[in-house]
Amino acid sequence: MRIEQVENKLGHALPETLSALGRLSWNYWWSWAADGAAVFRDLDPQVWEECELNPRCLLLDVSEYRLMQMATDPVYIERVRSLGERFTRYMNPQTKTWAREGAPGLTHDNPVAYFCAEFGVHTSLPLYSGGLGMLAGDHLKSASDLGLPLVAVGLLYHHGYFRQRLRRDGWQEEHYGTINPAKLPIQLLNDPETGQPLRVELEIRGRLVRFQAWQVLVGRVKLYLLDSNLEENEHIDRLITGHLYGGDRETRCVQEMVLGIAGVRLLRKLGIEPHVFHLNEGHSAFLTLELTRELVAQGKTFNEAAKEVRARCVFTTHTPVAAGHDEFLPSLVEHCFGRGYTESLTLTHEQFLDLGRVQTGDEDELFGLTPLALKMCRTTNGVSRKHGEVSRELWQKMFPTLSVDEVPITHVTNGVHAPTWVSPLLRRLYEDHVAPDWEEHECEAEVWRRGVANIPDEELWRVHGLMKQKLIAFIRERQYFARLQRGEGMEFVEAARETFDPDALTIGFARRVAAYKRWSLILTDPDRLLKLINDAERPVQFVFAGKAHPQDQGAKQILQQLALWKLDPQVVNRTVFLQDYDQEIARKMVQGVDVWLNVPRRPLEASGTSGEKVAMNGGLNFSILDGWWPEGYDGTNGWAIADMHAEGESHEEDMRDAESLYALLEEQLVPAYYERDASGIPRRWVGMMKRAIETLVPQFNSDRMVQEYARKIYTGAVASEATEALHVPVGA
Ligand SMILES: *Cc1c(COP(=O)(O)O)cnc(C)c1O
Repeated sequence: MRIEQVENKLGHALPETLSALGRLSWNYWWSWAADGAAVFRDLDPQVWEECELNPRCLLLDVSEYRLMQMATDPVYIERVRSLGERFTRYMNPQTKTWAREGAPGLTHDNPVAYFCAEFGVHTSLPLYSGGLGMLAGDHLKSASDLGLPLVAVGLLYHHGYFRQRLRRDGWQEEHYGTINPAKLPIQLLNDPETGQPLRVELEIRGRLVRFQAWQVLVGRVKLYLLDSNLEENEHIDRLITGHLYGGDRETRCVQEMVLGIAGVRLLRKLGIEPHVFHLNEGHSAFLTLELTRELVAQGKTFNEAAKEVRARCVFTTHTPVAAGHDEFLPSLVEHCFGRGYTESLTLTHEQFLDLGRVQTGDEDELFGLTPLALKMCRTTNGVSRKHGEVSRELWQKMFPTLSVDEVPITHVTNGVHAPTWVSPLLRRLYEDHVAPDWEEHECEAEVWRRGVANIPDEELWRVHGLMKQKLIAFIRERQYFARLQRGEGMEFVEAARETFDPDALTIGFARRVAAYKRWSLILTDPDRLLKLINDAERPVQFVFAGKAHPQDQGAKQILQQLALWKLDPQVVNRTVFLQDYDQEIARKMVQGVDVWLNVPRRPLEASGTSGEKVAMNGGLNFSILDGWWPEGYDGTNGWAIADMHAEGESHEEDMRDAESLYALLEEQLVPAYYERDASGIPRRWVGMMKRAIETLVPQFNSDRMVQEYARKIYTGAVASEATEALHVPVGA
């Protein structure tokens, strides 16, 4: 109701020359359209910042006078008109897309249903914590661009993910905001049958809990978000959809019941009959139980029902770490589900628990969502070639009669959404030199090979330099306010304006703070590092960002160590930690750095995607050969730290990798970057930038990824024999 009132108010308030802005603000398409974000920003840059880049908020908060100024500005009117026209064309169902021929099995009546616990569509919708959410957001955007029929299901977290602030002593503090649905582009759904506000019901912990559902438009794709924050629910149940990855194990179990089970019930209410259910990570694995329950209720046996379910579910696993897979104590599962649900599956409690176990009947095992997903899905895939291998090893225990190579887990390597991540200046360069419609030809290696050769070195270097200057201006501004907020002395606050050097080799490092990401590897030999940083002729500077999980004290200590180190007077002007890493900070970093550093402990990086974003912007990857990088690195388009052989966790390993890291910096990166010709261009470096663009963009963009999912996973063969054999018949 409130949303409609807002819309009415806006309908009156928006002058006719800018009326397209109302329509555009309701669909995140603007966020990746050329000139989309800039059109909203220019309506009122200050309110835009205050609204955290949210157009709904902007249109509500902008002053009438400012609105009328812009509504009578012919240049602005024309930009709004053009954006609106492109949006209309994009949304026209007649517009030709890849999917019509590329994935004929999928239709709007039988789409892909994509389930995920987090979605990183845009900074203004804080429903993501990191890589998994970003990947899901990019998946939706590419599905939209390709015209792939897909609906997505997730949760609306009222407090989102935590915001990060560092204390003066470097310790991370967390705080949570509260979203304001009235100012977001989210709409409450009505029940198509009754016209009343839609409700989904699910019994959890012995109580009936009701959910409303919101719709977010991501281009042609609809994202549905379940929400338990209703007055008719008990207080504790209203908090179920409170925080992303907040709370305890019970909260997690309950959230996953909502995502999986209530998620299926929501699709039923909306009359959507998916061709395939995609479990993006195990969080949504309970959906397979709900699909089975529906069939059992129609009179099928559990085994018949499970077989049918398996034919329609596919699973993507994202973690190579055994401990990273969600699992619950049997007593907790029983408490959350209650006996009624088990009975509705015609299973005994032990049979039910077996579904989440590796070994049937092993009472010491927890209930794991990955074993459940492996048993109930016709395909499982990892997110890079390497991760596929690692996952086959990790889960071979589920397939005791098969060799590791025979374990039916394949891979689809992650990719990123180019229009979201490539800087506007570089997009223009690609339009001019690669192809006017390069976004339609992202996956064609030949187009990039020929196109990149056409880009003049000077142009690429100039555009890159501008993006770097923008990043540095942003860093200085952030530093300034962070110091001010911490109550530092004014001299130190002012000095923030002088930090960083636009001409120095700039290395970015942004990722979750977790032990295996080895944040402190770079600090292994501080003297050697200081020499690099403080070299008078050829300095190196570092930009860091990333959050530690609130309950991970070890990670917070790692972060504190780095935060204190960067205050050292010897490095303070050449290193910065940007607080509260999010999509917007990521965008600025990947568009502006020269080099992207990644040093995970092998083989624990499933894929990683931030380096792919950097490559699209001409940045060079400087990484351990893990995740996506073994597929991308060819010796000419970046650097590999250490080699492929070493694996595992040991001090020697860390020392060897650190040695390789320093040696490469000293002997290769620094010399190549500072080697200039008469016109000041580092030809060799720019040559590598071009190699990175031409070899990595066609391979690691999310259009390629979604096409591969469409061909290989969504519409592929039904079920492998090995997966069939896995299905432990119950009741035998
Ligand atoms: C891309 C991205 C990630 C994922 O990066 P990794 O390479 O997997 O570490 C995480 N957070 C944000 C905000 C991102 O944009």
